[in-house]
Amino acid sequence: MSNKKGRLFVISGSSGSGKGTVIAEILRKSDKFHYSVSATTRPPRPGDKDGVDYFFVDREQFELFIDNGEMLEYAEYCGNFYGTPKSYVYSQIEQGMNVILEIEVCGAMQIKKKCPDAVTIFITPPSYSELCRRLEERATESSEDIRKRLEIALTEIKAAKDYDYIIINRANESSKAADDIIAIYEGKYKKNDEPDFINKFINDFTKQ
Ligand code: 5GP
Repeated sequence: MSNKKGRLFVISGSSGSGKGTVIAEILRKSDKFHYSVSATTRPPRPGDKDGVDYFFVDREQFELFIDNGEMLEYAEYCGNFYGTPKSYVYSQIEQGMNVILEIEVCGAMQIKKKCPDAVTIFITPPSYSELCRRLEERATESSEDIRKRLEIALTEIKAAKDYDYIIINRANESSKAADDIIAIYEGKYKKNDEPDFINKFINDFTKQ
């Protein structure tokens, strides 16, 4: 049996980047990855399943996890706590499995410091207008929440340059984005002109 450890793949992206669909595609296409289910104090959305999408806990329970050192990282986002339970991630890595963390920017930077070996990937929508369209179409949030998420999205997209890789998730091409991430794992991915893309995105955003 190989004793090679697995690696952490940290995937971030603003709301509306389609990162959830891309991750589902990766897990469907490859058996080399497991997904780490986060804990959150956010109330479940319709269709959310406890233990599958998140471990839904109250603030008191979450603070207990933090105090007991059970979180690999955590952050507050839109007034709710989100965090990665340590034990699952460590046991998977020890068994040689690669683990996907789908987390926001502050958490990703905490991981980068703690685990320099982790691969960080930022998924972005193809344009500002497409980002607005996706957020409005989802309509699971109030317009105030959408406004907050757009504001956070700008901050997050500015942080994209601190990631090892930037993957553009074009409309109806989540399968291609998943292939790109699998290619990163296989060492076959070729970087393009993503920083220029991000600069244009930020310009369009700030012009609004
Ligand atoms: P949502 O409420 O849309 O499910 O998630 C909001 C944000 O929290 C997303 O950017 C998502 O990536 C992030 N997130 C989910 N789980 C975690 C986690 O365990 N840690 C951190 N830092 N962020 C997370």
